[in-house]
Amino acid sequence: MENKRVWLCLAHMSGNEMKFIKEAFDTNWVVPLGPNVNAFEAELEQMVGNGRHVVALSSGTAAIHLSLVNLGVTSGDEVICQSMTFSASANPIVYQGAIPVFVDSERDTWNMDPNLLEESIRDRIAKTGRKPKAIIPVYLYGMPAYIDDIMEIARRYEIPVVEDSAEGFGSRYRGQIVGSFGDYGIMSFNGNKMITTSGGGALICPNEEAKKRIMFYATQAREPLPYYLHKEIGYNYRMSNICAGIGRGQMTIVDEHLRWHRHLCDVYVRELAGIDGIIVHVNPDDRFDSNYWLNTILVNPKQTGGVDYEQLRLALDAAGIESRPLWKPMHTQPVFSGAPAYVNGVSEELFAQGLCLPSGPYVTDEDALRITSIIKSTIQK
Ligand SMILES: *Cc1c(COP(=O)(O)O)cnc(C)c1O
Repeated sequence: MENKRVWLCLAHMSGNEMKFIKEAFDTNWVVPLGPNVNAFEAELEQMVGNGRHVVALSSGTAAIHLSLVNLGVTSGDEVICQSMTFSASANPIVYQGAIPVFVDSERDTWNMDPNLLEESIRDRIAKTGRKPKAIIPVYLYGMPAYIDDIMEIARRYEIPVVEDSAEGFGSRYRGQIVGSFGDYGIMSFNGNKMITTSGGGALICPNEEAKKRIMFYATQAREPLPYYLHKEIGYNYRMSNICAGIGRGQMTIVDEHLRWHRHLCDVYVRELAGIDGIIVHVNPDDRFDSNYWLNTILVNPKQTGGVDYEQLRLALDAAGIESRPLWKPMHTQPVFSGAPAYVNGVSEELFAQGLCLPSGPYVTDEDALRITSIIKSTIQK
C-alpha cells in the first residue's frame, strides 16, 4: 500500500475560517482593516495577557521591521540578533541600514547565550563607543530562551528587546507567554507556523501608545488630516480583514494544535528513548514549556555507528517523509559574512547534527511510529 507523503508542518483548518471570511464578504469589509482584524487582535491580546497590546500585520518579518523602526534603529546602528535562527530575524535590521551583530546559543535551549550576549554588548561598546540599539532573541522551534537572564542584562545596559517568538506561539516561560517579556514580541501566521492566516503576523506592543505608533507606520504614516500629509516614511504592512478571518477561525482550535504538537513530542521521546546517539530536544526543566512547533533531534554519528542526520533524512525521504536540517546559523550565511559575530561553537555543532521531524495536526500517531521505526532501522542496519 502506498503511504501518503508526510510533510514537516502543514496548515490545518478548523472549519470555522470560511464563516469569518464569508462575513467579511457579506459586509464588504475586504480591506486591510475591519471587524475581523479588531476581533483577532482582541483574541491575541487575551491570549498574550500581561497588559500587552497587539497589532495584526502582513507578516512576522513586517512586525520585526516595524519594532525596529519605532525603536529608532537607523543607518549605521548595531542590533544584536541570535545567530541560530531563520533569516527573517535578521533581514529587517538590514532594511534599516543597520548592522546585525550575531550571538551564538547555549546548549540547553539552543537560543541566545546570556553570557555571550553580555560579552558582545561590552565588546561592541569598547569597539564602537556606542551601545547596540536592540537585542533580538529567538524561540527556536518553539523552545523558550533563558529570557529572565536576557532581560536582566538588557535592562542593566538599557537596551530594548524584541522577542522573535514567530516559532513560539503559545510557548511559556515560568507560565508567561513568550513575546510578552521584552519591549516588543512578534508572531508569525505564515502557512507553516502554529496557526496561520495564509500569510500574516503580529506585533506585541508594551502599551496602547506604542500600538498606535505601530498602526501609524503600518498604514503609510498618514497624518490625521482630511488630505494626505506625510512627515515620515510609512509602510503598507496591515493585515487584511480576510486574512484576519482565517486567524479567527484558527483561534478556535489553537489549543488542539498545541496539544497535538506536544503529544508528538511525547511519542518521539518515548519511541527514541535508549537509541544511542539520538537526542530529542525537550524542555530543559519545568520553567520551560515549549509548543514543540517542530520536534527536533540531534544525531551523533560517533554513537550511531556512523549514521548521520543526512542519512536519516534520505531514508525518511525515500519513505515519503519530509524532514529538514536545523536552520543554518546566520554568522555562517554568505549574505551576512561581513557581520560581527560572537561565537562559541554551539550553533555550528547543532547544525552539523540536527534534524527537524514532522510535527502538527496532520502527523498521526501511525506516522510518528513509522518515522521513529525508520530512524531505528537505519541506525541498526
Ligand atoms: C517564520 C519566521 C519569521 C518570519 O515570519 P513571516 O511571517 O514568515 O514573515 C521570523 N522569525 C522566525 C524565527 C521565523 O521562523
